Amino acid sequence: MEEITKQLIATFRSRILKISWLSETTKQEAVKKLDAIKVKIGYPDTWPSYYDDLAIDSSVNIVENVFRVSEAINATAQEHLDKGVNKDTWITTPQTVNAFYNPQANDITFPAAILQAPFYDKNADAAENLGGIGTVIGHEITHAFDTNGSGYDENGNYRNWWTQEDYNQFTARAEKVKNYYNGIEIANGLFQNGDQTVTEISRIWAEWPVCWRFLEMTKKRFEKRLKAMQKSGHPIRPISIVIFADGGRTFTE
Ligand SMILES: [Zn+2]
Repeated sequence: MEEITKQLIATFRSRILKISWLSETTKQEAVKKLDAIKVKIGYPDTWPSYYDDLAIDSSVNIVENVFRVSEAINATAQEHLDKGVNKDTWITTPQTVNAFYNPQANDITFPAAILQAPFYDKNADAAENLGGIGTVIGHEITHAFDTNGSGYDENGNYRNWWTQEDYNQFTARAEKVKNYYNGIEIANGLFQNGDQTVTEISRIWAEWPVCWRFLEMTKKRFEKRLKAMQKSGHPIRPISIVIFADGGRTFTE
């Protein structure tokens, strides 16, 4: 996972540097932000301290126990008011089947629970994992540069790091995406809401192309593997089909 994430960030970097409408100044800021993204995988290195004083008691009812959990979390949050920001804090539990980008910390999180099939399987073909967790990684990186994440800098501070001209271009492009989706009828008379969904739909222009580009760069490695598979009589599926089919399956099943 660490290796795939590292490779996809590198691929993302090469794509940013090739964007024709971005100035050199904005590109450098974007790359600085990209390289500063903290990657959190599996579970936190340090468990949150609210567990220390938390007493779950099976002799009282569930509501009482839920109150105890809330109190413990609130007490810990209040303690943190007097301390500096702890960037190692997780905003989710390891048991959550999801992934996150947090613009205020500039970090991406992949809890342990999503690191299983169909998203990730350590015995699966590398292309299949790219089609699953690879696109999720690309998706979360994309959030650092969507209409919301783009307002935060490499330290998670709300700071404009764009030149005015580039930001105008970016906004105009985002408007086109919104307008395009506003015209899509999802059900009878019900239209997609571009304003509400632009941060999630923009991913399509990045997560798949990033995985695709990565795949192209590592094609030689896959070709070697395909040849070995061919020799062993293993049925061959073109990599392009594997990655797209698996990604499609991940998000439709
Ligand atoms: Zn998302």
